[in-house]
Amino acid sequence: MKQGLLITFACMTLLACNNQQKATEKGAIFLSEFDTPYGAPPFDQITVEDYVPAFEAGMALQSEEIDAIVNNPDAPTFENTILALDNSGSVLDRVSSVFYGLEGTDTNQEMQNIKAEMSPKLTAHSDNISLNEKLFERIKTLYDNAASLDLTPEQFRLLEQNYKNFVRSGIMLDEAGKERLREINKQLSALTIQFNNNVLAETNNYKLVIDNEADLAGLPQSVISAAAEAATAAGEEGKWVFTLHKPSWIPFLQYADNRDLREKLYKAMYMRGNNDNEFDNKALISEIVNLRLERSKLLGYKNFAAYALEERMAKNQENVYKLLNDVWAYALPQAKKEAAELQAIADREGANIELASWDWWYYTEKLRQEKYNLNEEELRPYFKMENVREGVFMVANKLYGLNFKKLDNIPVYNPEVDVYEVTDADGSHIALFYTDYFPRAGKRAGAWMSSFRKQSTRDGEDIRPIVYNVGNFTKPLADTPSLLSLDDVETLFHEFGHALHGMLSRVTYHGLSGTSVARDFVELPSQIMEHWAFKPEVLKMYARHYDTGEAIPDELIGKIEASGKFNMGFITTEFVAAALLDMDYHTQTEEQQYDVNAFEKASMDKIGLIDQIIPRYKSTYYSHIFSNPEGYASGYYSYLWSEVLDADAFQAFAEKGIFDQETARLFREHVLSKGNTADPMELYKKFRGAEPDPVYLLKNRGFIE
Ligand SMILES: [Zn+2]
Repeated sequence: MKQGLLITFACMTLLACNNQQKATEKGAIFLSEFDTPYGAPPFDQITVEDYVPAFEAGMALQSEEIDAIVNNPDAPTFENTILALDNSGSVLDRVSSVFYGLEGTDTNQEMQNIKAEMSPKLTAHSDNISLNEKLFERIKTLYDNAASLDLTPEQFRLLEQNYKNFVRSGIMLDEAGKERLREINKQLSALTIQFNNNVLAETNNYKLVIDNEADLAGLPQSVISAAAEAATAAGEEGKWVFTLHKPSWIPFLQYADNRDLREKLYKAMYMRGNNDNEFDNKALISEIVNLRLERSKLLGYKNFAAYALEERMAKNQENVYKLLNDVWAYALPQAKKEAAELQAIADREGANIELASWDWWYYTEKLRQEKYNLNEEELRPYFKMENVREGVFMVANKLYGLNFKKLDNIPVYNPEVDVYEVTDADGSHIALFYTDYFPRAGKRAGAWMSSFRKQSTRDGEDIRPIVYNVGNFTKPLADTPSLLSLDDVETLFHEFGHALHGMLSRVTYHGLSGTSVARDFVELPSQIMEHWAFKPEVLKMYARHYDTGEAIPDELIGKIEASGKFNMGFITTEFVAAALLDMDYHTQTEEQQYDVNAFEKASMDKIGLIDQIIPRYKSTYYSHIFSNPEGYASGYYSYLWSEVLDADAFQAFAEKGIFDQETARLFREHVLSKGNTADPMELYKKFRGAEPDPVYLLKNRGFIE
């Protein structure tokens, strides 16, 4: 299970324009569909000066569009109100998609300044729409009379979603309440941006510089070479630099014999945002959690979790805690067993230590070696990034008949980006797909999917999506291509699953398209893709030695299979700990001055987390839940919730053959193409014929036979 983010932009749907004159100079490029092949963003023509005028124009245009709906003298109809609302804001969408896409991959001070400048304006704009009473009156009239409107199920779904969104955004509040809500939204927007910037700064500011070769003992040559290149890039020629980016710190923890340095690097990683310096996030967390609570209470909920979960599959905090605690009951004892095994190795080696969190990776590699005679480094040559990408394309071809053709005439925002045209089995155009896989300064950590344009049907025209995947995988070196870790491979498959969800969307309305589904349903299409990554017949298709071209030997495939559930106690425990921490913050019912470290410790003590494991994210760099006004707040559990679904869904393939065409057809038809046009459980049952059975999750993780 990967925790790659799925980035969606707040539904900034509609607008008008006093600034249009100005925008024809700067920002004009965003005012109409891009006049390019496939409507791809013309990155070679977009400059940083275009964004602010385009945002201003986009907001003004949408305001005009809203005014036109509200002032329409005709009685409200689906077309003149709901459809008009869905169609509004196309300019704002276009500029937002490009700006926030690049702000995630190639940010700099200028981009961050624009983000900080635009954020309160965009929040206010979005509030102007969602708190527009006349607009809501029309929606409510339609909603109250829906039975007599002769709507298609998809039309009713869109109407209902709009109605609920308005209610959940505070339309029923009195004037004072609305005023306070606006203020809270504005503050949350600014605070979460600050949180994110602090994490970015703390990640990028740190370097572990090694100048004594002896301190590299234990590290594989590829890791040493990468550290030498990083040193050169940092102006430390002849030394070795390790950073807080995953492809750097994880191998160091896995292999470095120098325990003090492991401790130093690991602490630097998990102390991000917690150093009592200008980038400290503790005070921000307190404010964010309290503001979310105040907002939820204002809207009539007992806490933020109640507000957030109401529209998810989980429905309420009891259901979330139940799943997390049920899995925890299997995971923690397993993790303790693993800790004992690791301690035993250390004892046998005469290390004379008490296993600590910075030792876990190191002794886990030794245990892996001992149990499976498997060294992750010997696998890497078979997982050249280009081969893995080809592999995921082949899986999509065998399942859904899709074809991928690299295009060299589409402008990219960075030379590391590749673009593909995706076509269906019958040759028809499906989507453009961009990949951007390597870490660089200015790119956010982690991996995610989003789009420059979402699928919808407008005036009968099928608007095809433009989707991208971003990762921070192992970089190529001067003399070696990018050779991925198993973790990287899994992440690549995961994000590609989100991409398929966006690309295969076949809906009418923009607001219901692709990945615009409940947070705890959205990881089903991504996580199910992970199941194919390491199946023997799939490995045979793509895992070839980068140098010799030799297919991965059966012996290594056997080892990968045998070790598939290895370290699962740890993996599950660190995840569930973080998910519970998220829930603990967002189920508070009273505002309080948080001592973040104490709160986190109490939360972990309550569940008995062992000292040798820390939550996958500690509070002060928990970007999933604190770097966005809502984001994954009270939603980190979603990966596990979706895993109940993906484990059960893959079982359908496992039973009939992993490329069974009928099963694939059903999955594409009822899940991948449907977006948010129906209740997720209804979609799932149409695919599977029944609700998911949680037993497959426990089996896949090796907790039960
Ligand atoms: Zn995901």
